[in-house]
Amino acid sequence: MRGAVMHAPGDVRVQDREAPAIVDPTDAIIRVSATCVCGSDLWPYWGVDRFDGPMPMGHEYVGVVEEVGSEVRLIEPGQFVVGSFFASDNTCEICRAGYQSSCVNRVAMGALGTQAQVARIPLADGTLVATPEQPPEDLIPSLLAASDVLGTGWFGAVAAEVGPGKTVAIVGDGAVGLCAVLSARQLGAERIIAMSRHEPRQQLAREFGATDVIEQRGDEGVARVKELTDGLGAHGVVEAVGTQESMMQAIRSTRPGGHIGYVGVAHGVEVPGEELFWPQVHLHGGPAPVRQFLPELIDLIWTRQIDAGKVFDLVLPLDEAAEGYKAMDERRAIKVLLTP
Ligand SMILES: [Zn+2]
Repeated sequence: MRGAVMHAPGDVRVQDREAPAIVDPTDAIIRVSATCVCGSDLWPYWGVDRFDGPMPMGHEYVGVVEEVGSEVRLIEPGQFVVGSFFASDNTCEICRAGYQSSCVNRVAMGALGTQAQVARIPLADGTLVATPEQPPEDLIPSLLAASDVLGTGWFGAVAAEVGPGKTVAIVGDGAVGLCAVLSARQLGAERIIAMSRHEPRQQLAREFGATDVIEQRGDEGVARVKELTDGLGAHGVVEAVGTQESMMQAIRSTRPGGHIGYVGVAHGVEVPGEELFWPQVHLHGGPAPVRQFLPELIDLIWTRQIDAGKVFDLVLPLDEAAEGYKAMDERRAIKVLLTP
């Protein structure tokens, strides 16, 4: 089968890989219908995340089940399924508390590489959620978005305690930030402030429900959020970048007693103790437990209440994955969908 492999920073190739087979009796094998390039795939692409030797890529996927192991009970061949970037048993104490991304038996899908024609999904019963039937073609991008960016944006909004009557600011205009805007609207936020300086992304943010767009960053960006919130700061802020600047922007834009949902994968972020102590904000974040939200998100997509698939502004055949990475690296594309 064909699959994307990163050989060195900036060097992604689609090549023949050994087709995965059932390893554990709890596995499923799926034929991937759509996969994509993640903002987090860019960290190794830039050489920021180190890796040794060729590395299969990809952790987002939707597809049709081809085969299941002997202990799989809930998932069946022929089903169309959505899973998240961590496989999880969905039965341990951590999973039952809603934190499937920290499941005691979790498996990182990125290590298996889903930018491929076929993928092995460990812990299939806990990991995969089947759609009611085979989806129409036009719903596949949104279902794929649920696999990561939508689930992550949704968790960011939930962690920021978004709700009716609340003002939420979103730091970051990547696919996750934009999905957080959509999530905030769906969760009933009254005012949604998107922070973005890219015109096409601003436009999509407005389409997804942003009521205000702020172009400024740093202290100026914080000052603008305060201006829009009677000098108090937002009730909730979603941090969807993962840098020092974005994290401080989030903390300083939140009012005392407010909540920050931080879902950008942190790279070199160091928060000084004073900056934690004095603002009196709640911090909740980390790798999103997407599995917790999948049934609800699939229902919202199936009933066409949300169209998160709009974050995919470039579709390429899997064989052209290298161009997909390049387009995201150069910010020519918000998010790239790959068709195996
Ligand atoms: Zn678990």
